[in-house]
Amino acid sequence: MCDRIQAVLDRIAAAARRHGRDPGEVRLLAVSKTRPAEDIRAALACGQRAFGENYASELEEKSAHLADAGPEWHFIGPVQGNKTRLIAGVADWVHSLDRERIARRLDAQRPGQRGPLQVCLQVNISGEDTKSGVAPADLPALAEQVADLGQLRLRGLMAIPAPCDDFDHQRRTFAQVRALQEDLIRRGHPLDTLSMGMSADLEAAVAEGATMVRIGTALFGPRPPKD
Ligand SMILES: *Cc1c(COP(=O)(O)O)cnc(C)c1O
Repeated sequence: MCDRIQAVLDRIAAAARRHGRDPGEVRLLAVSKTRPAEDIRAALACGQRAFGENYASELEEKSAHLADAGPEWHFIGPVQGNKTRLIAGVADWVHSLDRERIARRLDAQRPGQRGPLQVCLQVNISGEDTKSGVAPADLPALAEQVADLGQLRLRGLMAIPAPCDDFDHQRRTFAQVRALQEDLIRRGHPLDTLSMGMSADLEAAVAEGATMVRIGTALFGPRPPKD
């Protein structure tokens, strides 16, 4: 486990240096969806702290198992209205916020003693008609709404581009995400997080300013097919 983590950290550092960035600016988020709690425990023992989960039920189960171990939980999957209480109670971050209604629920249900939930807005960058992600044109309005909620702290943007194996094309897509973030910063939002890059495109994401890369396969191996 520690070897695989180190190999990914080396990829991040090499990409950062190649593009004139400090490797310390890019955090590794270990995407542990479908993996058992023991895999997370093994990664924690190597010094990996932040873990990403896509399904509320898995977050619930693993956070209960690992309560003693203190991982930082990032929710990165679609947020269903009936799961907001669970997510608001357990997660440290939500990367996949894309609707005002969900933002209001998370804000209302965040336990006061936990402090604000850190959130990124998921932007639908490839213009696919997937249900996830706010359209770029609707981003400023959603950012305004979220910024007004006291139990949420708006940190930045998250994107999942359509898979593509051309490096320059990957870069152009991530550059668009960065431009959207810069626009929000100009509008007065103090954003510091770009959650972008997965196992197959982390180098392009780091080249375009990613501050958090979400890595599953390169750390834990291929996932079992979903049934
Ligand atoms: C599964 C997933 C990842 C990790 O993808 P890999 O290709 O396995 O690295 C990252 N982000 C999100 C939102 C995911 O659902």
